[in-house]
Formats: sequence, C-alpha cells, structure tokens
Amino acid sequence: MSAQLSSAQTPSSMLQGQKDVLSKDAGECAICLEELVQGDTIARLPCLCIYHKGCIDEWFEVNRSCPEHPSD
Ligand SMILES: [Zn+2]
Ligand SMILES: [Zn+2]
Repeated sequence: MSAQLSSAQTPSSMLQGQKDVLSKDAGECAICLEELVQGDTIARLPCLCIYHKGCIDEWFEVNRSCPEHPSD
C-alpha cells in the first residue's frame, strides 16, 4: 500500500460539468427524476446534458460518464 497521492494529476475537469444557474425550466433530471426548474443550480456536461449540480456530483463519485451517455 502506497501513501502517494497518485490521483492528484487525474484530468477530471471534463467530468465536472459546467456549473450554472438555470435560466428557464429544462425538463427532468434523469438522476433524481425531479423537474429542473428556473433558479436551480445545475451542471452542464460536455454532451450537453443538464442535471442538478448536487445530483451529478454524487453520480460522479461512483460513475465516470454521463447517466444518459454511459459509453464514455
Ligand atoms: Zn436531480
Ligand atoms: Zn449526456
């Protein structure tokens, strides 16, 4: 078991999503199945999917790709 922080250089920025505040209703969050409504803090992924920021943060703790585009 090494104590080195080998994950420090992982280029994860593409998986973080672009944090934003929703300016208009955008349908359903595919993770929690609740509506995405104006004023919600959301994250936009490179594939243009939108989720609640909190939802996608939790999702990325155990998954490395978009819930709707799992093929990486
Ligand atoms: Zn959600
Ligand atoms: Zn997607």
